[in-house]
Amino acid sequence: MHIEVKGLNKQFGDFHAVRDVSFEIEKGHLIGLLGPSGGGKTSILRMLAGLESPTSGDIIFHGKRVNDLPPQERGIGFVFQNYALFKHMTVFDNIAFGLKVKKQKKEQIRERVMSLVELTGLKGFEHRYPQQLSGGQRQRVAFARALAPEPQLLLLDEPFAAIDAKIRTELRTWLKEMIERVGITSIFVTHDQDEAIEVADEIMIINKGRLEQKGTPWDIYKKPETQFVASFIGESTFVEDIAQIKGFSDAAVWPGTKGLIRPEYIEIGKPGEITLASAAIRGTVKHLHFRGSEWMVEIEIGGTKLITYRSLEKEVLQPGEAVDVLVHRAYLFNNDDSWIMENK
Ligand code: ATP
Repeated sequence: MHIEVKGLNKQFGDFHAVRDVSFEIEKGHLIGLLGPSGGGKTSILRMLAGLESPTSGDIIFHGKRVNDLPPQERGIGFVFQNYALFKHMTVFDNIAFGLKVKKQKKEQIRERVMSLVELTGLKGFEHRYPQQLSGGQRQRVAFARALAPEPQLLLLDEPFAAIDAKIRTELRTWLKEMIERVGITSIFVTHDQDEAIEVADEIMIINKGRLEQKGTPWDIYKKPETQFVASFIGESTFVEDIAQIKGFSDAAVWPGTKGLIRPEYIEIGKPGEITLASAAIRGTVKHLHFRGSEWMVEIEIGGTKLITYRSLEKEVLQPGEAVDVLVHRAYLFNNDDSWIMENK
């Protein structure tokens, strides 16, 4: 289903939970709504579902405005964080529920349920009750149940939140494959950036009710459009005054320009180790943290602290040691407009 949202607003009394949000979603895409708690993600999802009505704005499915359509007529499947399975029903009956409501024929229901049981890897579990299943299996049932009536849009609210870390990673990959196979337009809410980056075709970053940026995970990481996006996605160090760093100080940067620097944009080395040493500045190693596969190194350059990583193959650094530091690029901000600056 192709989705278009125009100027969506939601107010709860005086509180403005969703502010002028507009976007389009292509048919078959998997979208991650990502952002901090209370930002408005669930409110957007609930308005798409018809569980909440917008204060203003249009929701358009397939070119048709659906603001006034009740949830059951919108062709939507819902998967919640807490499974919301019927405890007194077997896996089979849980999946069959939406089909029975639609008064489909018994044989037709059986066929559809069994094909979903197969698709979601639940064969042999049809007669179990939810409490006899693991968290991951329950979430698969919830997914199969949502898909049973052949919705055109699947909405998932923090679908992995209640699941153990290890199973969660497996379930993410599983869900992505499953959604691709079914080819259904899907939107999931998460506040976990790794989850959004790994699973989504496109991410929408929601903060304080606003859509800060929409794009592929790659675009959002590489070209953050606002200071918030740059700091929310990936690791970075915030620098109050980027002009203190060589290479940026002699560019068109005025004193006090703020910047964000990702660890991978920083090259460090013992004096002489860096090829472009003439462009480097001298810093001091403050702390070292062993992270298993590499060292996390905190360096200080005249009051500014930067974080970077150093491979285990290179010679070990010591706290207090002088290092050459070369910052290759940074995200700079002026009132919240952002731009990327290369150190040339
Ligand atoms: P979370 O990740 O914590 O679920 P979220 O990004 O999904 O957060 P929402 O649940 O959409 O955010 O909530 C956005 C804001 O609107 C919050 O400050 C919340 O307290 C407020 N809010 C949500 N529903 C209502 C309601 N029915 N009445 C009043 N305020 C509400």
